Amino acid sequence: MRSYSLIAPAKINLYLEIIGSRPDGYHELAMILQSIDLSDQIDIHASSTENIRVYCDHPQVPIDQSNLVYKAAALMAREFPKAFSNFGGVDITIKKHIPVAAGLAGGSSNAAAVLVGMDLLWNLGLTQSELEELGASLGSDVPFCIGGGTAIATGRGEQLSPLQSLDNLHIVLAKYRSLEVSTPWAYKTYRQQFGVNYIQDSEGLAARASAFHSEDMVKAILNKNTENIAQKLHNDLEKVVLPAYPQVWQLRELFASQPGVLGTMMSGSGPSVFAIVESQNQGQIVKERIREAIPDEDLELFVTHTIKHGIKIAQ
Ligand code: ATP
Repeated sequence: MRSYSLIAPAKINLYLEIIGSRPDGYHELAMILQSIDLSDQIDIHASSTENIRVYCDHPQVPIDQSNLVYKAAALMAREFPKAFSNFGGVDITIKKHIPVAAGLAGGSSNAAAVLVGMDLLWNLGLTQSELEELGASLGSDVPFCIGGGTAIATGRGEQLSPLQSLDNLHIVLAKYRSLEVSTPWAYKTYRQQFGVNYIQDSEGLAARASAFHSEDMVKAILNKNTENIAQKLHNDLEKVVLPAYPQVWQLRELFASQPGVLGTMMSGSGPSVFAIVESQNQGQIVKERIREAIPDEDLELFVTHTIKHGIKIAQ
């Protein structure tokens, strides 16, 4: 086959705790990542040239070498030079539906789709853990995006322990289209303000990461207890992003005050905010209420749900 179309889902963070600094300059994290039914489509076509070309008509997405899908394809070409010389380069088209710079890992999921797609296109037969290892060199969220579902992520987010998947948790998601939060800015600001509280020694960091595996949020997920999950939502980055972005803070407050909302939280480094609701119907009602309260066209709203999978071939 000369081309593949892949579904690349977004993720939300049900939990994000910053536990310390790492010698490589990244943060040591304890997170729970969850795929949602809001996806981009990535079409990959073997071009029989030496080029990697990226096509995307979304104004916020670069189509040059800075695009994560370009980086993913270039990595595959470097790692598998024989396949590259046999099959040639690729044309990659991104059909963007995931809000950009939103804390939803859109770029990471697109890169994960390219790794999976090129593995298929070049008949490499890589295992999921081999793909995850390649993904980790592109970005901390890329390994999770490959398999998706529900997982504990520690280290800088690349060390994954899959959990029993939470499918059909109903979600309302909101993002101001024109508002972008830089992930490096959020972590840097957090370090400046809260770095004194970090666990300093490597034993302490390892102990915290290991204790996290049996904490209440993990138990709530294992028990599929939606109310407990909603009550245990946590994101340390809210402490720096919400004060700097009052619009996001107001949005979160508005979600929290809606009947039928079980819990609400910013995802990743923001600025998207999501709410867990009881049913899809309730999700529609909450979405309409938020729309009435904030008629601003710049605010994008989605009713979605959690899913069990990461990258998959489009039907
Ligand atoms: P994360 O949650 O992993 O931090 P994010 O959802 O906050 O990611 P992205 O949507 O991945 O952020 O975009 C971050 C920046 O990366 C954007 O400003 C965009 O210019 C750039 N970018 C590079 N490649 C892509 C891509 N394939 N899709 C979206 N943005 C991309």
